[in-house]
Amino acid sequence: MRKESTSPPTSQASRDDSARRKRGWGIRGQLVLGFTSFVIVVLVIVLIFQVFLLDYFFQEAKKTELSAVHSSIEYSIGKEDFDEICAELASAHDICICIYRIENGDIGDLYISKEVSPTCVIHYADKDTLNAFYDKAMQNDGYFTQPFTLGRGDGVEGNRRPSGEISEGDGAFESKVKAPPNPDKPQRAMVVAVSVKAIRDHDGNEFVVFTNIGFSPMPAVEITRIQQYIYIAIALVISTIILALLISKRIAKPLEKITRSAERFAAGDYSVQFDVEGYAEMRRLAETLNYAAEEVSKTDKLKQELIANVSHDLRTPLTLITGYAEMMRDIPGENTPENTQVIIDEATRLTTLVNDLLDVSRYSDHRELKPTRFNLTDIVRKTINRYTELVKHDGFVIVFEESEDAVVEADESMILQVLYNLTNNAINYTGPDKRVVINQSIIDGKTVRITITDTGEGISQEDIPYIWDRYYKVDKTHRRSLSGSGLGLSIVKNILVAHNSSFGVESTPSKGSSFWFELPIVD
Ligand code: ADP
Repeated sequence: MRKESTSPPTSQASRDDSARRKRGWGIRGQLVLGFTSFVIVVLVIVLIFQVFLLDYFFQEAKKTELSAVHSSIEYSIGKEDFDEICAELASAHDICICIYRIENGDIGDLYISKEVSPTCVIHYADKDTLNAFYDKAMQNDGYFTQPFTLGRGDGVEGNRRPSGEISEGDGAFESKVKAPPNPDKPQRAMVVAVSVKAIRDHDGNEFVVFTNIGFSPMPAVEITRIQQYIYIAIALVISTIILALLISKRIAKPLEKITRSAERFAAGDYSVQFDVEGYAEMRRLAETLNYAAEEVSKTDKLKQELIANVSHDLRTPLTLITGYAEMMRDIPGENTPENTQVIIDEATRLTTLVNDLLDVSRYSDHRELKPTRFNLTDIVRKTINRYTELVKHDGFVIVFEESEDAVVEADESMILQVLYNLTNNAINYTGPDKRVVINQSIIDGKTVRITITDTGEGISQEDIPYIWDRYYKVDKTHRRSLSGSGLGLSIVKNILVAHNSSFGVESTPSKGSSFWFELPIVD
């Protein structure tokens, strides 16, 4: 009884649904998401450097610059052109310089003053403030650097507000570092670093060098930088999405084309062609699928042929058997030994065919070998003996060119089957001289080679690779009643492959074929 499907009609729809869910994101979505996430991560990293770490790097660079300037001043003090050197240093580094003499441990006369930058604050410090700076430097091995914020004046302190501890004196310095250049135009606070160093010239005179330098990027530069950053980020995200879409289109399009062809192929249309342009990998995939489609179509064709052949082969003897049996039953005098022989012959033919079909499935897959030691030469003789009747009645000549006996270790019944199938084919396909030669030769004392040669039409070069396939028949017609299932060589191949032995065929059209196989000799 046929079993009907009992699943509810909605099950197909829900299966489709879950399949769609399982498929998840397409290439397009994945690429856009992947590319965009990558760009966003890069932008965030850049932002961190630009906003949070830039000041740190900037200040470190400026500190190094200040220290280099101090060293140059210390080295050059007392030289004739010291004033010029200081002017050059100030303008080259955009630094304000004030150098005072030290008299009795206090700030004395002004020795050098270079005010080059609008961020100069040191010139606005009074003596008390300068003394306070000097004292602090002396407590700190003669050198110290401290940042001060230039004020905004709107009561709101800048977001980078280093403490300006030194604020004694008349307030000029203090107001400079706290008061804005233009209170109506509040802007981001700027930081300046004041650096103090006590030095001596070659004569041992003491000096103190005050320098100050812009310690934060100019606000205008910073605003431009942030604006640029925003524009670049927007442009980058948009171009990334466009790029991802373009790339995914190039990948997805051929894939969709291949999928459509594969769906047709799965539905049984083996003539389908997978042809795509684009990436080399896609072209290779299409080529492989084309090859697979070709092979599947070939196998399918062979299967159809086998069904046709097998049914034909089964029907012919069955018709004959039934016909002869009916005739012998109904017509008096027809019950002759000749007619009975026809029935026996046809029944034998049927048995051969059915046995071939059974053998092919038996040997094809992974049947375990049962190796034993046996005399191969004896087996060849045994095979030839099976054909004694044929030789007697039909005039066949089977010659055995033997060398010394060869003992091998293999599955005896399988090797017998190989010999039988090859000899059978040679008899079936040999020429009018009805001659078949079986040669046994020993190669290097290690290997025995059996070659079965006929004088028939041979096999064309283009057919040779396929004759080992199941169901393959070169001329698609049956020569003799002995064989013709198209399975004999496939059985031979399976057995010899299972034995790891070499085998092959040499054939010259209209001259004949030589089928051979080799087995290792054991002592
Ligand atoms: P079949 O039962 O049809 O002989 P086989 O598998 O034994 O099937 O052989 C496959 C095909 O190879 C045959 O149909 C025939 O065309 C070709 N073939 C096999 N042996 C020979 C031979 N000795 N000479 C010529 N053709 C051969």
